[in-house]
Amino acid sequence: MDYDTYGSTAVELAIELANADRDDPEWARAFLGSHDDWFTPGTSFDLSPGESHRAGATADLVRAVALAESQDDVLTRLNELLALARPRPYATDHDGELHLHFARPDSPALEQLTTTVAMGLSQVVVQHGWQRLGVCSAESCDDVYVDTSRNASRRYCSNTCASRSTVAAYRARQKTE
Ligand SMILES: [Zn+2]
Ligand SMILES: [Zn+2]
Repeated sequence: MDYDTYGSTAVELAIELANADRDDPEWARAFLGSHDDWFTPGTSFDLSPGESHRAGATADLVRAVALAESQDDVLTRLNELLALARPRPYATDHDGELHLHFARPDSPALEQLTTTVAMGLSQVVVQHGWQRLGVCSAESCDDVYVDTSRNASRRYCSNTCASRSTVAAYRARQKTE
């Protein structure tokens, strides 16, 4: 599958949000700052504690969609996430490529975040199937991923986790042999 539209690449923002480390109370502002190319230039990333909390709730919903094991569960959770979105799509070529943005350009950071994440995730689910979302099978990793492999056979969030698990499995085999 190729991610040649903003709609599909926006799923990456959703995945990264779901995997964000939320220990620091300022995590949401840090997350927005490190993903600022998804936001209208000049958008304030100063979130109130309540807004940070809602960003966390959005992250939880993305994870819940990835963890869901039936289409019914996926739909319930996805629609819960979509209910938080305030889509107002517009076409732009701000980076030289013609593409769509999903949120009002002058909307607050939280609204842009929630809307982009919800729309990006839903597009992948409805176009490519909810089985494309998963949670890493590596021990001590619970990162969410989107499977872009041709045959949808991915089980790990990253090559690092995949090779770490291969090594661990090899060692475990050696011990029992
Ligand atoms: Zn853009
Ligand atoms: Zn992993």
